[in-house]
Amino acid sequence: MKIIAVNAGSSSLKFQLLEMPEEKVITSGLVERIGHHNAVFQIKVNGEKVTVEQPILDHKVAVDLLVEGLVKYDIIKSLDEINGVGHRVVQGGEIFKSSVVITNKVIDDIESLNDLAPLHNPANVTGITSFKKALPNVIQVAVFDTSFHGTMDELAYLYATPYAWYEKYGVRKYGFHGTSHQYVSEKAYAKLGNKDAKVIVCHLGNGASLCAVDAGKSVDTSMGLTPLEGIPMGTRSGNVDPSVIKLIADQENRSYESVLNDLNKQSGYLGVSGISNDSRDIVKGIEEGNHRAYLAHKVQVKRIADYIGSYYVYMGGLDAICFTAGIGENSSLIRKDILEAVKVLGIDLDEAENEKRGEREITKPGSKVRAFIIPTNEEVMIAREVVRLK
Ligand code: ADP
Repeated sequence: MKIIAVNAGSSSLKFQLLEMPEEKVITSGLVERIGHHNAVFQIKVNGEKVTVEQPILDHKVAVDLLVEGLVKYDIIKSLDEINGVGHRVVQGGEIFKSSVVITNKVIDDIESLNDLAPLHNPANVTGITSFKKALPNVIQVAVFDTSFHGTMDELAYLYATPYAWYEKYGVRKYGFHGTSHQYVSEKAYAKLGNKDAKVIVCHLGNGASLCAVDAGKSVDTSMGLTPLEGIPMGTRSGNVDPSVIKLIADQENRSYESVLNDLNKQSGYLGVSGISNDSRDIVKGIEEGNHRAYLAHKVQVKRIADYIGSYYVYMGGLDAICFTAGIGENSSLIRKDILEAVKVLGIDLDEAENEKRGEREITKPGSKVRAFIIPTNEEVMIAREVVRLK
């Protein structure tokens, strides 16, 4: 069975075509700069990237190009071979506690959440409607970044703000990266052989969040109403005192939107180091003795350790810490420093294993809390959901 997993942004669309249930990637690709005359369509043909630059003025054109490309490049013989499409949707609010087959009512409901995710949900819907037009007889499924966190208790998701804000506007913590946290924690449970285990997943990419998973359920996570909350990231500040916004707006005579934009786009690694949002540049800066690169790294490590400590207490114990996404999978330095910072929990790091790549355990046998590198795979998780609902 062939399933397309789609991640549609405001000007880009990433996709994978997977053979299920084997979970084998048949091809992958992306369309970038949608809405522009110099847009780019990229698709892998026999393992080689084929890149075409041409005007792609909207998502519908991008999707038609993609779907026709699958046949044109002989990846499939006909569109009848496509058995389902799974769409990543960022915000499912309190409406969607799990993935759903897309109907017109579902699209309306996703749109009703636009206020909570103005940058993401409208783009996700555009991707959905374009695929519905291109493949009208194929099942379409929405998989939400938030729904894995639907098991959080109100103690964990409620902010201590006026309760009416929650009732009237849905102001609460939702959390994101749910498909990744679910995929990685399921792998961890298989390794631990204990379905009641307590696990913390550290998804450290350009966006980054932690999730406390107790007996397979998300019980807390670091991102909030939006992905800005939590630990410092590539360009996001993570938690700050909200009063900072007024102070900077007043000092620099700027709007609160513009200051908020700085917290999203000019902070984190980039803001503290002044060098880059890319962890490789930060590591290089540290090696060259750049103090601000060191600070960008260490401030993040401290905040991550703070969360791990609080989740340990909240769950009443901890069996494993898992590292995933671009930085979590590739940066031995960040894993080592985080595990060093939470050593008091009983972590015996295997430094040699930590220097290696790929799925593995990085603590020594007998370590009270075990640690793993587990590469994430959000596309497989999306495709699994389509198969489950088909
Ligand atoms: P996102 O999907 O959130 O855009 P990714 O999960 O792709 O992000 O992660 C991007 C981050 O991964 C970047 O900061 C990049 O520096 C980091 N990264 C990728 N490869 C390596 C590496 N070999 N060593 C250290 N960091 C890496």
